[in-house]
Amino acid sequence: MRTIRTVGEVRAALAGGGRIGLVPTMGALHDGHLSLFRAARAENDTVVASLFVNPTQFDDEADLGAYPRDEARDARLADGAGVDLLFAPPLEEMYPAGFQTWVEVEKASSGLEGDARPGHFRAVATVCLKLFNIVHPAHAYFGQKDAQQAAVIRRLVRDLDLPLEIRVLPTVRDADGLALSSRNVLLSAEERARALALPRALAGGAETYRLGGDAVAAARAELNGLTPDYVELLDLDGALVLAAAVQVGSIRLIDNVLLHGELR
Ligand code: AMP
Repeated sequence: MRTIRTVGEVRAALAGGGRIGLVPTMGALHDGHLSLFRAARAENDTVVASLFVNPTQFDDEADLGAYPRDEARDARLADGAGVDLLFAPPLEEMYPAGFQTWVEVEKASSGLEGDARPGHFRAVATVCLKLFNIVHPAHAYFGQKDAQQAAVIRRLVRDLDLPLEIRVLPTVRDADGLALSSRNVLLSAEERARALALPRALAGGAETYRLGGDAVAAARAELNGLTPDYVELLDLDGALVLAAAVQVGSIRLIDNVLLHGELR
C-alpha cells in the first residue's frame, strides 16, 4: 500500500487502475472501516481509502480537536485489509486558498443529524463529491451506522448523474452491541457502560415494531436515563431505519437499526 497526499499523485497512481473502489474515512480506523475495505477489495481492481478529518463538517471545535488521529496505525490496518492506495491529503490540498464551492442536498440533509449539526451534510456532500472527482471510483462504500449520510450521498449521486454506485454495508458492533465508532475510545469505562442503553433501546424499538407497536416510543422508553437528541424513523432508499442520537458525557453517539426493507 502507498500513502499519497496530492490530487496529482492520486490521478497518476490510478491511471490504468481498472475498476476502482473508494472508501472515504476520517481515520481512527476500526473493524467497521475494515469491513468496508474488504467489501471494496472483493469487487474492484484497485482499492482507495481516503483519510481526511474534514474540518468543515464539524460544528463543534472541541469535537474536532478531540477527534482521535494516528496515521501510522491507520496505514497498517488499511494495508492489512487490502487497501492499495491511502489518500491522506493535507487541509490545503482539499481546501485550496479561495475555496468557495459547496453542494447542498436539500431534503435528505434536513431533520435528524442535519438539524442537530447545521452545515454538516453540506460539508460531507462537498468533500465526498470532491473525492469522487479525484478518484473516479466505480463503487464507493459507506456504513449503515451513518444512515442519513448514506441517504444524502445516494441522492447526490442520483441528482448529479455521478457515474458510480454507492454500497451501504451493515453496522459492525462490539460483542455487547455497541456500534463501533472512532469516538468510542473517548468514553470512560462508566460512560461506555451507560452507552449500551442506546443499542438496547434501538433493539427494543425494532422488536416492538415487529409486534406492530410504536418503535420510536418503545426506544425512547428504554434509553435508561440517556438524553436523546432525537429518536426517529428514517427512510434510507426504501429501507426503514430507527435512528437515534444521544449524549453520553461529552461524547455524542449515533446509531440505528433496520426495521424494514434491505440495504444495498
Ligand atoms: P468515519 O471515519 O467515521 O467518517 O466513517 C467512515 C465510514 O465508515 C462511513 O461510511 C461510516 O458510516 C462507516 N462506519 C463507521 N462506523 C461503522 C461501523 N460501526 N460499521 C460499519 N461502518 C461504519
